[in-house]
Amino acid sequence: MEMRAKQDIEIGDDITPPLLPLSFSLHDSFLSSHCSSCFSPLSFPPLPHHYGSLYCSAPCSSSHSPISSSSAESFLPLTCPRSSDLRTALRLLLSLPSTCPHLHRFTNGLLTNYLKLTSSPEFAAQIRQGAIAMAAARKLRKGLSLDQSDDVLLEEAVLCLVVTNAVEVQDESGRSLGIAVYDPSFSWINHSCSPNACYRFIVSPPNATSFGEDSGSALLIVPSVSEENFGVCSCSEYNKGTEGYKYGPKIMVRSIKRIKKGEEVCVSYTDLLQPKAMRQSYLWFNHQFTCSCSRCTVFPSTFVDHALEEILASNPSFSSAGLDLNLYRDEANKKLSHYVDETITEFLLVGDPESCCKKLESVLEGGFHVEQLESEDGKSRLNCKFHPFNHIALNSYMTLASAYRIRSSDFLAFQSKTDESQLKAFEMSRISAGYSLLLAGATHDLFCSESSLIVSAVNFWKQAGESLLTIAGSSVWNLLGLPKSELSTVVKYKCSECSLMDIFGAKSILNQAERTNFENISSDFLACVRSASPKFWRFLIHGCHYLETFKDPFDFRWLAHAHCVAEDVDFIKEDSNCEHHAEWYTNARTNIYKVGMHCLVYGVILAHICYGQNSH
Ligand SMILES: [Zn+2]
Ligand SMILES: [Zn+2]
Ligand SMILES: [Zn+2]
Ligand SMILES: [Zn+2]
Repeated sequence: MEMRAKQDIEIGDDITPPLLPLSFSLHDSFLSSHCSSCFSPLSFPPLPHHYGSLYCSAPCSSSHSPISSSSAESFLPLTCPRSSDLRTALRLLLSLPSTCPHLHRFTNGLLTNYLKLTSSPEFAAQIRQGAIAMAAARKLRKGLSLDQSDDVLLEEAVLCLVVTNAVEVQDESGRSLGIAVYDPSFSWINHSCSPNACYRFIVSPPNATSFGEDSGSALLIVPSVSEENFGVCSCSEYNKGTEGYKYGPKIMVRSIKRIKKGEEVCVSYTDLLQPKAMRQSYLWFNHQFTCSCSRCTVFPSTFVDHALEEILASNPSFSSAGLDLNLYRDEANKKLSHYVDETITEFLLVGDPESCCKKLESVLEGGFHVEQLESEDGKSRLNCKFHPFNHIALNSYMTLASAYRIRSSDFLAFQSKTDESQLKAFEMSRISAGYSLLLAGATHDLFCSESSLIVSAVNFWKQAGESLLTIAGSSVWNLLGLPKSELSTVVKYKCSECSLMDIFGAKSILNQAERTNFENISSDFLACVRSASPKFWRFLIHGCHYLETFKDPFDFRWLAHAHCVAEDVDFIKEDSNCEHHAEWYTNARTNIYKVGMHCLVYGVILAHICYGQNSH
């Protein structure tokens, strides 16, 4: 099944109206802090060890609690794996008749993947166990117990449907709150690793006016096969549940590329900044298919997929020896991705930012050794580093930016407010901004060659912009010799070299002409930040050995010959001879502000393409 464009679609257009879910459920960990009906955060503090449904308001409670109680979900065992799947399936069962022979596709037109899942050695047992728990709960609700002879076919089929069609519902910060199943308008849209559309959720309490909902957008996609050919179940009318789900998380699909009439519309079910093998294994374990999209099947692999696994040899002798680095890439990536993942997980769990920074930077900076094949002069070791496009490096930058940010605020929170601790906090936030800028710069190169990476680009540019603006607005500049009055000179900024600020200032961001012209907007933007960043980059990253190896956060061409680059003159030495300290700092600060504004505004414009008006 697939969905195709009904008409030509411009970049940044809504392709579907807001769609209501057919069924949904919060994950266990959010049951005590979020409304089970609309997924909004609850205004009262989380109740510890709470497993039932809680509601934000009377409308949510009265519409949703009948579903919750008649679905028998409260009779599920307290701890069962993937219980949000089971709750979603139980709620879905309410709208189906008690016997239905159509196990492969229900009235709602959704595929169950029943045969594939129940015959797969990896999933069959899990489906069977879940279905038994569901059937037992339904019996228990009637005061009965499950019999050996009872069949659980229907439960299995509905659970298969949920596993196949459910999407993770994320909040603004990217946390996965729960899952939801939508009707075919969304569920029939296939996955691609180079998609031309993306989706977003609208989560809001009843009666709140939220963005995007009143847009009156039409459904711009149609199934490519006519509905009579499906052999769908005709046992029940599939709309009984709708009333109870009217406040649930809605989904909207939006184009991120220009789409021609008749072209297939695809979204991504996974993180596109992962190399092919990782995407494939995620899709198999979570969606039970092997991706055969153009990005996955092209040979040789795309620039982006190659770059996401790229490593650099730092032995001066390496390139002259004429060895093929490709031979070592897999080994190096395997060797270290596990270590880096563990460090990041530990940081998220334990939250020791300092040890996290140390570990990650030692991997990034020190690189690693791979035993080289026998050569004429015996065995020798090859020194490798991650290329900044490598997904392990990108993940590390993301983590390091937030770890340094935390270290900065820790300094201000726990230390006395001496000049020294203020400067230390400032250093940490400088380095955090340095990593954010490097992350945005590296991802932008990938985005330029694969435009579906726009969703990542949005977050990284916004984050880089915000960190730089925080630096520019810091009071620490006074300690560096800037008189207080200097602040006013950096407050208002208008760029004479590009149109970014004008686009942002206009009533409706990105009119038709600007969307058509988007490539030019991007290149003007990049030219602006490229010319301004050398004026502060070395100051920004001073004190961070790893970042100091980068001459420029936007130019990675020199990396191919990294070992040939002689150490630049230390800028601090250069600077200490400068008689005009205050002047130099004012200039640096102004440029930090300029680049910060550019990054933030560019991020907002990209967000407008992905998420629409008022999404920021
Ligand atoms: Zn609610
Ligand atoms: Zn049926
Ligand atoms: Zn793919
Ligand atoms: Zn500009």
